Amino acid sequence: MRYKVADLIKAPPGNARWVDVDDNESVGHDGFQVVSPIQGQVRLMRDPGGILVQGKISTTITWNCSRCLEPLALPIDMELSEHFRPTVAIPGGALVLADPDEEREAITEIDERHMLDLSGVIWQNLELALPATALCRPDCAGLCPQCGANQNIETCGCEPPADSRWSGLAELIRQS
Ligand SMILES: [Zn+2]
Ligand SMILES: [Zn+2]
Repeated sequence: MRYKVADLIKAPPGNARWVDVDDNESVGHDGFQVVSPIQGQVRLMRDPGGILVQGKISTTITWNCSRCLEPLALPIDMELSEHFRPTVAIPGGALVLADPDEEREAITEIDERHMLDLSGVIWQNLELALPATALCRPDCAGLCPQCGANQNIETCGCEPPADSRWSGLAELIRQS
C-alpha cells in the first residue's frame, strides 16, 4: 500500500490522481484477521501542506458474535480522509515545509524517497470502524448465563435464575 508521489509533490496544489488500493498481504492484527483483500480507490491530491488522501476502502475481517462469541465474517467499509506531509523537500521542486502546528505522526509522513504508505492509516481506520457489537444473526440466542452453553446449538435446560424482585410477591401468592 505504498505509492510514489514525487510527481505530485512537485506539482502545484490542486493536482490530483486516483490510485487503486488492492492489498492481499495483510492477514492479521490485534484481535482480528483480515480475510478478504483490502480494496478501494483513493484520490491523492496535492494541497499546500502535502497530500490529501480521500477515498473508500473495504475489506472483510473475522470478528466474534457479541452474544455467543462464535467467529463471524464482518464486512467493513471505511472512508479515508488523511493528510500526509513530506519530510523532505524535493530538489528542484516546490519547497514543502512541515506544518509546525501539525502533530508529528509517523503514519502520515511521506518518507525521504517520496513514498506515501497508506497501511498505517488504513489499520487505524479499520480499528475505528470495528463495531462495539456484532451478531452472528439477528436472533442469536447467546450463551446460557449459568452453564455457558451456546443456546443456538443446544438446549441446556438450566432454570432461569429466580428474580429477587418478585420473590416477595411469590411468597404472598403461596400463602394465600
Ligand atoms: Zn451469536
Ligand atoms: Zn445452561
